[in-house]
Amino acid sequence: MPDKILKKIGVLTSGGDSPGMNAAIRAVVRACAYYKTQCIGIHRGFEGLIHNETCELGPRSVRHIINKGGTFLKTARSEKFKTAEGRKIAAGAVVDNQIDGLIIIGGDGSFRGAKDFYEEFGIPFIGVPGTIDNDIFGTDFTIGYDTALNTAMEAIDRIRDSATSHNRVFFIEVMGRDAGFIALGSGIASGAQEILIPERKDSLDDLFDSLKRSEQAGKNSSIIVVSEGEELGNVYELANATKEKFPEYDIRVSVLGYIQRGGHPSCMDRILASRLGVAAVEAILDHKTNIMVGLKSNRIVQTPIEEAVKKHNEIDIELLKISKILVI
Ligand code: ADP
Repeated sequence: MPDKILKKIGVLTSGGDSPGMNAAIRAVVRACAYYKTQCIGIHRGFEGLIHNETCELGPRSVRHIINKGGTFLKTARSEKFKTAEGRKIAAGAVVDNQIDGLIIIGGDGSFRGAKDFYEEFGIPFIGVPGTIDNDIFGTDFTIGYDTALNTAMEAIDRIRDSATSHNRVFFIEVMGRDAGFIALGSGIASGAQEILIPERKDSLDDLFDSLKRSEQAGKNSSIIVVSEGEELGNVYELANATKEKFPEYDIRVSVLGYIQRGGHPSCMDRILASRLGVAAVEAILDHKTNIMVGLKSNRIVQTPIEEAVKKHNEIDIELLKISKILVI
């Protein structure tokens, strides 16, 4: 039990949205009520704070949202908050609303903003990692990753049905500008022939060898899952290069895009968001600040925000290895 109760906590979602953010807001609001602390919602992230877009939140304000994708508080990317002047206006809104601390649900960009804000104005905050990319240091999983993974896997399964019917090679792009977590996870789960991710140096020769092996092994379709941030090329460039090498192949491209961001959060994401939301409130009431709450080996952990924004979650080498073994 926290030792002292702060009077009013603000909660906002910022940066890219992810499924499970609503469940995290709900957990924050209800934990505040449980610990008899007022909770105020801030619309549209830091941009909304600058424009003083706030609302009182009680336990009933967050009913029926645990199962909804997106974020009912809305989110935004705020250029103004990146300026000292914008942050000064936002600090004024914090004082006007008598907010004692902030809970920021978002990605590393949002944590960078919150860190600047804390250093300049001393406003305590706790970060809650919400992004489908799973690339944040200090937690095994980020809120939204599991849902995005399942969405990508289901979409690839459907594409596989069509690929198999026509003896096709499919290049499928999944989200992850800087990280290959969604590609690696959904690729393994859907039996992809190759998984191309930015964390590993890939080559066209290796890709062509793999396609040749797939053909020689008698497989009647090949799925190549490509992360958005793959350095070898985007899906169209890779498909063109492959067509040049193997003109006889029937090659198709599919970009999964924003469907990976939406949809009902998975059970795992709802539980993760619920745990982290409560942990964030308990941490701030315990006078912690400048930290991110996360889950490691199924335990709640706190990581200094400095570390969370500097380091990145590493891809699991063992997963890379098994992805190679299982396509035999
Ligand atoms: P995410 O949180 O999903 O990584 P962004 O990188 O877009 O998303 O960051 C969200 C918002 O956080 C930005 O629009 C901006 O308002 C704020 N922000 C990001 N980086 C900084 C920074 N270095 N200084 C101040 N604010 C920042």
